[in-house]
Amino acid sequence: MNRARLLHFNAALGPLDYKVPAGMRVEPGSIVVAPLGPRQIIGIVWEEERLPSDSVPDHKLRALIEVLPVPPLRAELRRLIEWTADYYCARIASVARMVLASGGALRGPSTMVEYRLSGNEPERMTPQRAVALDALQGEQATIRELAELASVSEGVLRGLVNQGVLEPVEVDIDRPYIKPDPDFAQPDLSADQQRVADRFIEAVQAEKFAPFLLDGVTGSGKTETYFEPLAAALRMGRQVLVLLPEIALTEAFLRRFEDRFGTPPVVWHSSLKSTERRRAWRAISSGEAKVVVGARSALFLPFARLGLLVVDEAHEVSFKQDDGVRYNARDVAVMRGHFEGVPVILASATPALESLQMAESGIYERLELPSRFGGATMPDVGIINLTEEKPERGRWLAPRLVEQLKQRLERGEQSLLFLNRRGYAPLTLCRHCGFRFQCPNCSAWLVEHRLSNRLSCHHCGHETTPPPNCPECGEPDCLVACGPGVERIADEVAEIMPEARVALVTSDTLNSPEKAAAFVRQAEDRMIDVIVGTQLVTKGFHFPELTLVGVVDADLGLEGGDLRAAERTYQQMAQVAGRAGRGTKPGEVLIQTRHPEAPVIAALAAGDRDAFYAAETDARRDAGAPPFGRWAAIIVSSEDEAEAKEAARAIGGTRPSLPDVMILGPAPAPMSLLRGRYRYRLLINARRSAQVQNIIRDWLGTLDFPQGVRVAIDIDPYSFV
Ligand SMILES: [Zn+2]
Ligand SMILES: [Zn+2]
Repeated sequence: MNRARLLHFNAALGPLDYKVPAGMRVEPGSIVVAPLGPRQIIGIVWEEERLPSDSVPDHKLRALIEVLPVPPLRAELRRLIEWTADYYCARIASVARMVLASGGALRGPSTMVEYRLSGNEPERMTPQRAVALDALQGEQATIRELAELASVSEGVLRGLVNQGVLEPVEVDIDRPYIKPDPDFAQPDLSADQQRVADRFIEAVQAEKFAPFLLDGVTGSGKTETYFEPLAAALRMGRQVLVLLPEIALTEAFLRRFEDRFGTPPVVWHSSLKSTERRRAWRAISSGEAKVVVGARSALFLPFARLGLLVVDEAHEVSFKQDDGVRYNARDVAVMRGHFEGVPVILASATPALESLQMAESGIYERLELPSRFGGATMPDVGIINLTEEKPERGRWLAPRLVEQLKQRLERGEQSLLFLNRRGYAPLTLCRHCGFRFQCPNCSAWLVEHRLSNRLSCHHCGHETTPPPNCPECGEPDCLVACGPGVERIADEVAEIMPEARVALVTSDTLNSPEKAAAFVRQAEDRMIDVIVGTQLVTKGFHFPELTLVGVVDADLGLEGGDLRAAERTYQQMAQVAGRAGRGTKPGEVLIQTRHPEAPVIAALAAGDRDAFYAAETDARRDAGAPPFGRWAAIIVSSEDEAEAKEAARAIGGTRPSLPDVMILGPAPAPMSLLRGRYRYRLLINARRSAQVQNIIRDWLGTLDFPQGVRVAIDIDPYSFV
């Protein structure tokens, strides 16, 4: 190649052409540095014919500066980038940016300094030094990490460095990971698990695209089942990616993985330190990192030799990204498997209707694990009709649920109460004048967090301290909390059973992998009697002593009128119910509701999953909703209300008129103010045959908007706020 076309990240310019200087070797996918005006930019060499641009004559081209010392992005990944940009109506550079997720990784090898004990004694021993020497036996890390480990200040450790008690060690940042051993431990599988695992192994060995739906009830051992094809891929020298919906879940996963393969996998998520990020990225692109477990962003990592993709808890909403490139990692994972020519396993106890439909039509192969591992039985589900069995005044738990909680406590068994609402109360108002605390940046109430003494907005993060007087009428001590959050339920449990040990599990309390690990240990060691938690507790956890699950308010998710409300409620309830009775003792589930007649509640009570999915399928078919029709949203926003409204009107006014497409709106969004921006929405409902993306591109491509206006396109939206 003597000229190269670059995909780069300067949003104002299209693709750029450069001259390849003599002696420099580039190929499509090479990551290079190029001059742009007086500056330098990073770009990816792309096939010219796939990235159309005006051609510049050879003599006008500037020369590339250097090729960065990382493997070129493979064609399979370049096709995935193109597909994702095209399908989700995103800029191709925005998708490519997700691939180059570590700036540091693009530079060559590098070292850093870590410290360890040298064996020398300090000149003078102080209590803090004694603590540090004790805690740091056998450890090696940076000063900051060691200080955290020993719970002493960095100053204490620097003193020890000066005295030669801690010695510096130069380490390679990219030091290799320990390879998982496919034969470390023998799996102990049931006949069902073995049958499914064998089919997966066959698919991995075939080295061809094959999408699977692993449909197994909660507690059936899906993870252990897909560990076997994972081992098969390792034996073939291939890499494996496992996507998990929630980073708080990885702790339990990591332990099971280590038990089976002798070492933890490489972890990828947004809160990695930049050195860890760099090390992981480089090892993934060289093929040295064998198994990667990560959140949805791991999907775009530059694997050298992928052999298998797994999406665990594939029904989870958190696989859908709702800003930037609005992609669904579950769907993009299947496309990645397609381009790479490898199997993809979507695992779930409550698959999305879209996935079930793909299985029904024969596009995905469905494999079932119909019973729990080790002979455990599914829990009994009972309904508490709150209109008949009322909780005491000012309380939220009905007498029957309270009675069961007390019995469990007496028997030394664990209970779990589920309410998907963080904080103490979702609304605070003035008893005197009716004033309600609202977020200044969003159309949302402020949620009281009593533990941290804050009123906070769950949409934009705005926080304030509850004032002693009403800001409206000035009356003192007149604020009342309305409705329950998990903090309030935990308080109620403490009042009813003062001797019970209660753990509160929300993203506020379990905000790091360490805290998640500590919680799991305490629960397993039976240091906890009652767990009160949000959706964080609905999945992944496996506590054999947990025999009672109480759903505080099953109607919560059914409000709001979003397209998938019933399905989400069903999934959440079924998942949280699945935490009960996973050991030898049978489990019981009690669901509090004001609408026992709602189809989703009735299906849960009857344990009739098929009935729920059948009713939901009919409703979606009637509404032309996915998977039978398609939705897309256009969200117009601006800090200036009039400007947002005007832009939305302009879009609405030029709407195309097509037989297989219905366009609704523009209308103010349900969250008409979000993070200080006024929002309008248009909703597109189309037949499956319609080319929705092309229609939207043609439609919006002709329009110009003021600078402050943002127009976002959401294909297959999950959020309707
Ligand atoms: Zn007031
Ligand atoms: Zn807000």
